[in-house]
Amino acid sequence: MTLQTEQVLQQSAQYIKGVGPAKFKLLNRLGVYTVADLLYYFPRRYEDRRNFLPIAHLRAGDYATVKGEVSSRNLWHSRRGMAIFQILLRDQSGVLKAVWFNQPFMSKYLKIGQKVILYGKVELVKRPQMNTPEFEFISGKDSSLHVGRITPIYPLTAHLNQRYLRSTVNKALEHSHSYIPDVLPYNFRQRLKLLPLTLAIRYIHFPADFEKKDAAYRRLVFDEFFLLQLILSLKKLHQSQTKSGISHQTEGGLIERFKQSLPFKLTAHQEQAIKEIAADMRSPRAMNRLLQGDVGSGKTIVALYAMVLSVQSGFQAALMVPTEILAEQHYLSLSKLLLSLEINVGMLVSGMSRSARENTLIGLKSGELNIVVGTHALIEEDLEFKNLGLIVIDEQHKFGVLQRLLLHQKGKAPDCLVMTATPIPRTLAMTVYGDLDISTIKELPQGRKPISTFWVREDALASVYNFLREEVAQGRQAFLVYPLVKQSPILELKAATQMYRRLSKEEFTDLRLGLIHGQLKSQEKEKVMRAFKERKIDILIATTVIEVGIDIPNASVMVIEQAERFGLSQLHQLRGRIGRGVHPSYCILVSQSSQTEAAQQRIEAMLNTQDGFQLAEQDLDIRGPGRFFGPAQHGLPELKIGNIVQDLELMELARSEAFSLVKQDPRLTDPQHLLLRNKLKEKFRSQNLGLLLA
Ligand code: ADP
Ligand code: MG
Repeated sequence: MTLQTEQVLQQSAQYIKGVGPAKFKLLNRLGVYTVADLLYYFPRRYEDRRNFLPIAHLRAGDYATVKGEVSSRNLWHSRRGMAIFQILLRDQSGVLKAVWFNQPFMSKYLKIGQKVILYGKVELVKRPQMNTPEFEFISGKDSSLHVGRITPIYPLTAHLNQRYLRSTVNKALEHSHSYIPDVLPYNFRQRLKLLPLTLAIRYIHFPADFEKKDAAYRRLVFDEFFLLQLILSLKKLHQSQTKSGISHQTEGGLIERFKQSLPFKLTAHQEQAIKEIAADMRSPRAMNRLLQGDVGSGKTIVALYAMVLSVQSGFQAALMVPTEILAEQHYLSLSKLLLSLEINVGMLVSGMSRSARENTLIGLKSGELNIVVGTHALIEEDLEFKNLGLIVIDEQHKFGVLQRLLLHQKGKAPDCLVMTATPIPRTLAMTVYGDLDISTIKELPQGRKPISTFWVREDALASVYNFLREEVAQGRQAFLVYPLVKQSPILELKAATQMYRRLSKEEFTDLRLGLIHGQLKSQEKEKVMRAFKERKIDILIATTVIEVGIDIPNASVMVIEQAERFGLSQLHQLRGRIGRGVHPSYCILVSQSSQTEAAQQRIEAMLNTQDGFQLAEQDLDIRGPGRFFGPAQHGLPELKIGNIVQDLELMELARSEAFSLVKQDPRLTDPQHLLLRNKLKEKFRSQNLGLLLA
C-alpha cells in the first residue's frame, strides 16, 4: 500500500487530468514535474472568499478582495502613449474603479457583464479604486473550489491561471488517494501536536478555516526544518566519531609566557572563546569551531592563542587568509607578538620570491617553522607540513569548501577553527553553521572610540568634500565609496572611475587620490591598498571591494555615496574599516532624500547602532533570509515554505528534536524511522552524504 502510494506520488504530473504536454511544460517552469511536486506547490497567500466585503465598506490602504460585475470599461492612451485600461465594477453596495497601466490586452478579458473577483490595495480617489489588481473570473462550474471558501492563491507563470492551478492541485490530491505516507512516527507527531501529513497537505491548499491553515503550515515547516536539522546533526555526529583528532596540551610554560607577554588585557568574550577552544583542543575529538565576532573585536589574538597551544604540544599551525596584504599584516603582528617566545613564524603567498618560498617550504617540512601565515598558496600541492595540528581560516566565507578541505588534508585530522567577521543572527547560525560549534565575541575591546555616523543629503555633498579636505589637512586619510550594482557592474564601475577622474581634476586637485575596484587584478588591488596603508594616498576612491580585515588606523573618514544602494551588512562592513586608531572617526552616508522604505530603515539602523549582531538581526528583518547573504553564499538552505526569521521557535524545536533523535538512533535503523531514513537518503543523494547513514 505504502509503496503504491509512493509510486503514485512519483508519477509524472501528466497523469493528472487536464495536464497535457503543453500545460506540463508550463508547470515545469514552476518546478512541477511529478504529482508530489503539485502537492508541494504551496499557495503564496489566501483570500477569504467565504464572505466578500461589500464595495461600500472598503477602506483606503487595505488589501481587499471584492466580487462584482463589470459595468463599464474604457481603453485609451495617455499623451505619452501609455495604454490605460479602466473598468467600473459594481456590486450591490457600490462601485469600484480598477485601472491597468500598459496592459491593453486586459480589455480582451474584461467585458461588460463579466463577473469577476478583484484583489488589490484600495485607494480612495473620489470613489474606491484599485490599481492593477489581480483578477479572476467567476463561472458556475466547479465554483466550490474557487469561491465561498478560503481560497489559495498560487505563484503563477504566464499562461497558467489561478483557477487552472487550483483545480489541478485538487485533482492531484484526489489522484493520490488523499493518502501520503507520513515520515514522522505517530507518537512523535502526537507529542509535538503536529497534524498528520495528509491533512497538512490538504489544508495548506484548501483550509476550512484559518486555524487549520496555520496548523498545516506548522506541520510542513516543521518537516522542512526537521530534515535540515537531521542532516546537520548527522554531519556533526559523523565528524565527532570518525576522526580521532589530536589531544593538545592546554597547560604549559609556553602558553603561560604567551599570556604574560600580551600587550593588553583580554576581554571577557575573548576569554570565554579561548576557554571553549582550549576545551575542544584538549579533547581527542577533532575541533570544528566557528569563531564569530565583529570587525575589530579581536579574533586574531584568540586564534593566536590556539596556535600557541598547538605549538606547545609539538605541532604546527597554519593561518589561511584571503589576501596577500592581510597575510602580510598578520605575519608582521604575529611575529611581533611571538618574538620573545622563540616560536618561528613563516609566510607563504604567491607573490613571493622563489627563494623565500623555498625557505618557507623547507621550514614547514622540517618542522623548523612552527606557524605559517598565508593565502590559498598554502594549499598548493608541493607544500608539506611536518605535523600540522591546527588550521585557522580567517574570513572563512572567502574560501570555498574545497579549499578548506585541502588545507585540512595537509595534516592528520588537525583541529579546525574558522573565523568570520560577518555576524549572523542566531537562527541563521543554527542552520548555516548548524554542524559547527560556535564561539562568539560580542563586544569590542575597551577604549575604542565610537564612530560618529551621519546621514547627509546629496545636495550637501560640497560640505562633505570640505570636511574631507579638513581631515586630510590634519593628517588623516579617508575612503570615498561608490556602489557597485549587480545588473550592470561595468556601468557602475565607470561611476567610481569617473568620480576618481573628476575629483582629481576638479575637486581635490591638491590631494593624492587612489582608485580601487573589483576589476583590477588582485596584485594591482594590493598595490593600491599598500600605498594607502603607507599613507601615500589621502583619499581612496573605492567600490565595496576594499579588502576585509585590513587595519589602517590613520583612516578616519568613510564616505559612502548613494548609500541607499548598499545592503545593511555591506554598510556595516564598510564602516568597520575606520575607527581603528586613536583619532575620532566619522562615517558619512550620502543619499537622496527620496528613497525606498527599506533603504530608509537601513540608514536609520546604521545611525542607531554600531553593534554588528543587532544590525544583522535588523537586516534579516528588512530583507528576509533569502536575500540576507546574496545568492548561494554560506550554503543557506533553500526553504520552500519555512521562514527562518518568523519561524524561529519551530527551528529551535526542530533542532532539539533532530539532535535528540540522532542521539537515540544514530543510523536511523529503528523501523519507526524507516520512512525518515529513506527521505534523508533521497536528500543525501544529491549532496553526496550517503555515508552518514551507512
Ligand atoms: P578582528 O576580529 O577584526 O580580526 P583584530 O584581531 O584584528 O580584529 O583586532 C583588532 C585590533 O584590536 C588589533 O589592533 C588588536 O591588537 C586589538 N585588540 C585585540 N584584543 C584587544 C584587547 N583585549 N584589548 C585591546 N586591544 C585589543
Ligand atoms: Mg581579522
